[in-house]
Amino acid sequence: MDFEFNEQEKMYRDSLRDFLKKEFVPMVDRRDAAGPLTRAEAIDIMKKFQSLGIGLDPENARAFVGSPILFGIFAEEVGRVWPSLLTLFGMGALPAIYVPLASDKVRSRLLPRLEAAEFIGCFAETEPEAGCDTSTLRTTARPEGDCFVVNGAKTWISNATIADTALVGVTNTQTGTQTFLLLDREVSPWEAHEQHKIGWKASPTGEMFFQDCRVPKENELSALMGNALALGPRLKEVLPLSDGFMKLLTQMEPFTAMMTLPRAGMALAAVGIAQASFEAALGYARERKQFGKPIGRHQLIQESLYEMAVSIETARLLGYKAADAIVRGEPDARRLSAMAKVYAGEMSIKVTYRAMQIHGGAGLATEMPLERYFRDARMMTIPDGTSEMMKLVTGYTLLGKGFAAYR
Ligand SMILES: Cc1cc2nc3c(=O)[nH]c(=O)nc-3n(C[C@H](O)[C@H](O)[C@H](O)COP(=O)(O)OP(=O)(O)OC[C@H]3O[C@@H](n4cnc5c(N)ncnc54)[C@H](O)[C@@H]3O)c2cc1C
Repeated sequence: MDFEFNEQEKMYRDSLRDFLKKEFVPMVDRRDAAGPLTRAEAIDIMKKFQSLGIGLDPENARAFVGSPILFGIFAEEVGRVWPSLLTLFGMGALPAIYVPLASDKVRSRLLPRLEAAEFIGCFAETEPEAGCDTSTLRTTARPEGDCFVVNGAKTWISNATIADTALVGVTNTQTGTQTFLLLDREVSPWEAHEQHKIGWKASPTGEMFFQDCRVPKENELSALMGNALALGPRLKEVLPLSDGFMKLLTQMEPFTAMMTLPRAGMALAAVGIAQASFEAALGYARERKQFGKPIGRHQLIQESLYEMAVSIETARLLGYKAADAIVRGEPDARRLSAMAKVYAGEMSIKVTYRAMQIHGGAGLATEMPLERYFRDARMMTIPDGTSEMMKLVTGYTLLGKGFAAYR
């Protein structure tokens, strides 16, 4: 059992940390408060990361989404500095993964954008009436000739307003079954409106509206999966996924397997937020004097620092354990990523609260990053599976078939 990163992982973390410090630390508070990134800003950021070897393009994706530990390090380090950026890569990765499987015609449009880091993707499942329960999607896809005609609305979709590509959950009106469609916005346009929220201020989130939106049938999930099967052993070369992840895909439903990585990522991003607020609290406890000594010498402050440190460390271990289970393709990845997401998300709220408390009145000042950490932490328990649903997934994986409490 090894609790250390290997040399490659350490180098990756250190260069990413230096890059984030140089590029984003000086401007993050000002820019985050100004609201959602524009598409041009988002592309500029994607290109900066690409210059570091991080991106969704085929050349870099294998060492990024295809390497769960590196993905976890990315989530933790970006969480520590600017959590709003995570959705560009997390949710954007879901449609990006399917691009290499698209038909020649579709691929020839989307691949150059991916390669140039000009691809902003979104994953659109949630609807006004379908939140945790996505079994009855009201967005419909009506087959008509060589197209599906899509009608309906989505809500709370990360990147919806700036995305050029979307993976959209729909109900097929002919079969009554649910599926996903890969939408290229220029070919299959949608309308989107920004939704405002308390944290992740720079991450665009929006409603999407589809009105008689025509999507070629070749963009439907089963057609994409058919292309995947036709590739045979070459699939491994084409898809930027690790062997372990491919193993997970054979053990559980594709969507269930897919969600293990973003959930482990969310857990580690929450660790990053908590770590940033903890470091601020530690510094303040050393410097701020009350009753003739640094507040760090008061026992209740030390107890609070203990609570913060032990819960951050626990969440970090759980997050990387989940990532490691994905590396190895263990079915337990589902339970571990769900547990990590709940524990780390809830932990980040408690830790950022304590960090503010240690700062006294200064912790409540809007000029301090503490309030951003607190607002960003509050976001972590809803997207990619609410804490309640993650607890039910854990219950089901522990108890087994027949015990799903959410069906
Ligand atoms: C910032 C942000 C970004 C998001 N990004 C995306 C995205 O990119 N793509 C996407 O598709 N969605 C996205 N979402 C939507 C997110 O996945 C949903 O908000 C989430 O699934 C919960 O759905 P809901 O908000 O409708 O809550 P509801 O489903 O209405 O739930 C309300 C409350 O009831 C609880 N609850 C529901 N069912 C049960 C049950 N069976 N047992 C116990 N408790 C239950 C929930 O946990 C929650 O506390 C995003 C949301 C936010 C806030």
